[in-house]
Amino acid sequence: TPALARAEALIRSIPDYPEPGILFRDITPLLADAEALRATTDAIIEPFAGQFDVIAGIEARGFLIAGAAAIAAGTGLIPIRKAGKLPRPAASVDYALEYGTATIEMHDDLPAGSRVLLIDDVLATGGTLAAGRQLIERLGSHVVGISVLFEIDGLGGRDLIGDLHTVFHS
Ligand code: 5GP
Repeated sequence: TPALARAEALIRSIPDYPEPGILFRDITPLLADAEALRATTDAIIEPFAGQFDVIAGIEARGFLIAGAAAIAAGTGLIPIRKAGKLPRPAASVDYALEYGTATIEMHDDLPAGSRVLLIDDVLATGGTLAAGRQLIERLGSHVVGISVLFEIDGLGGRDLIGDLHTVFHS
């Protein structure tokens, strides 16, 4: 659609951020635009309509998309956070980064068997979303879909995650 094409054009590429050699996709100009935000929010949830009970979003930029998507879908929102940010984490998952490891955590605020749509802003290597999926499943819920605003091709994310929905890709 024209609205999605405009939204895609608003994603800004920043060379050498946060480190030399990285081309960072900055989605903040898209978020700032009412029509682009609306169109991408709808596009992120569209293939999964009627298939999920709740949306989970990954800290920090994933929260921005997931919150908008939960309002649009009429569901609740579950934050998946970096270690140490939640007062009563029920589960945590460690995963590998390029250098070192990271940990994400979640509260147990979902009825067991909930159908979860998992959302983040950008898919790169896929490590973050794979860990998020593990976390949700560890607490007894089902990830019925994974959806991202932007997929960076060629970093292996799609191989790691398997089936996923992407609004834009490089
Ligand atoms: P992955 O675990 O797939 O390698 O990295 C994905 C995570 O890093 C996501 O949570 C995403 O927010 C962040 N990320 C990696 N590369 C980029 C990028 O180019 N732009 C943005 N906005 N986030 C990125």
